[in-house]
Amino acid sequence: THTEDHIYIVGAGHAGGELAFALRQQGYAGPLTIVGDESHLPYQRPPLSKAYLKGECEATSLYLRQLAAYEKANISLLLSRRVERIDRANKKLVFDDGREVTYSKLALATGGRARRMTINDATRAEGTSNFRYLRNIDDVMAIRSRFEAGQRLVVIGGGYVGLEVAASAIARGVNVTVLEALPRVLARVTAPQMSQFYEKVHRDAGVDLRTNIEVTHLEFNATGDAVTAVHCTGGVVIPADYVVVGIGLLPNTEVAQAAGLDVDNGIVVNEYAVTSDPDIVAAGDCTNHPSVFCGRRIRLESVPNAVEQARVAAASLAGKPKAYESVPWFWSDQYDLKLQMTGLSQGYDQFVLRGSMESKSFAAFYLKQGRLIAVDAVNRAQEFMVAKRMVAACKSFDPAALADESVPLKTLAGPVQPAAPQA
Ligand code: FAD
Repeated sequence: THTEDHIYIVGAGHAGGELAFALRQQGYAGPLTIVGDESHLPYQRPPLSKAYLKGECEATSLYLRQLAAYEKANISLLLSRRVERIDRANKKLVFDDGREVTYSKLALATGGRARRMTINDATRAEGTSNFRYLRNIDDVMAIRSRFEAGQRLVVIGGGYVGLEVAASAIARGVNVTVLEALPRVLARVTAPQMSQFYEKVHRDAGVDLRTNIEVTHLEFNATGDAVTAVHCTGGVVIPADYVVVGIGLLPNTEVAQAAGLDVDNGIVVNEYAVTSDPDIVAAGDCTNHPSVFCGRRIRLESVPNAVEQARVAAASLAGKPKAYESVPWFWSDQYDLKLQMTGLSQGYDQFVLRGSMESKSFAAFYLKQGRLIAVDAVNRAQEFMVAKRMVAACKSFDPAALADESVPLKTLAGPVQPAAPQA
């Protein structure tokens, strides 16, 4: 019997949205449906801790595309709908409302969810009105209405999300305390010098930033519907009108795992974004993929990865496979600082600074045995473009020349390679 083509995309996030349009661009003209458990059209999350949190834009401006674009491309959207199960033997998806559909091919773009705190009080706190993890538009709708001058906000977690929330809250006149369990902020992603720089920036802006401190329990009001204080190691008690937690992400891999797909800190895919089932691809925060650049498997949480891997997955579905070869990159906006990072700095043995941290315009180069493996650039957008190319080249550079501002970075990078013709 002939099964009709119908490609389903599970997850209506950045990767899912991008994948659908990339499939159309690759020439797939058959039925195409995106299924997502949020009520929104696919949207960008970065503004959730930045402009949107500050109240500078509305939810619809976060949408990757407006509804008309999906209609025009003949892409169906099933929103507020969860895929509960994948029945690979019969090529069926089972939704939370019990409905079943048959797929010819499947794309998983399930992203991740906020990592929960492990202390006992955390579950109880989730039922209150002033304690929130931050991952979705709905989370921010709840949080930002409470961002008023003089309110006391406690941010748990000194990673990018926590620090961006702190900066956005300060801009609204909120009193902010940031609690980081490790000895420094951004410890997992950057060098001590960068952590120190960001700690100073936040303290100068008025944030009460504390490191090496762990939350032990929470205090609730008499009726139990609000958190009133955060208790920490060393007997420290911090009164709170609002608590926002940003302590990382857990990839949404349960549905894939239950279906018997290979999962290992992410849905395991090959360089073509294909899972252990040849009819199923995956893209974005939920994947564990081989990185040509890093020489090992990685899982990334970044928009460029979601977008570029979605295109690779679409190409595979369309029968025109192309390998994923992008160098990781990411950005973070805090106050007047635009940080852009490329490569992965883990394992570096040399740190070279170009420009001065005091001037808030500099680039940090990470070398490993002479080879440039990563660059963090603050307020240096133009040099960052060049730095991306330098990191991608996997070459050694003279540290003294990197630090010398009288030598244009372009000179060190060498000529731009002509871009490969687009298929
Ligand atoms: P997601 O955006 O998480 O989308 C996955 C979607 O699938 C979700 O809507 C989820 O609910 C849905 N879903 C999951 N399981 C199912 C199911 N079974 N059925 C139906 N639907 C399902 N990146 C940057 O590069 N720069 C930044 O500055 C930056 N800032 C960020 C700030 C915040 C506050 C956050 C939360 C993230 C930020 N990121 C940033 C990361 C970036 O947003 C993610 O890398 C990106 O959203 C990943 O896209 P995705 O499609 O893989 O996953």
